[in-house]
Amino acid sequence: MATEIKCFECGGWDTDPTTCSLCGKVRKVHSTFENQNDVERQKPFEIPMLVWNQDINIPTWKRNLINSGKALQWIALMIGGFIAWLAYWIVV
Ligand SMILES: [Zn+2]
Repeated sequence: MATEIKCFECGGWDTDPTTCSLCGKVRKVHSTFENQNDVERQKPFEIPMLVWNQDINIPTWKRNLINSGKALQWIALMIGGFIAWLAYWIVV
């Protein structure tokens, strides 16, 4: 069964991931999936870089919330990385 996507414009359901076949509206692709069809970006392993959300369609307070979440994620990663680094030296 194909995945059905709801159109934010007309509220109809459709299987086309790029455009709505009911009203013709081009769907907004989430930044996570933007590079999916880009051959140069299809790598088996890639460390995602910290990219601040600068989408003008999102209100500033919400964007600040998203960006502080991103910062927290990287802080958590750094702590985790530091613990892994320490564990390596304990074992060796
Ligand atoms: Zn539609």
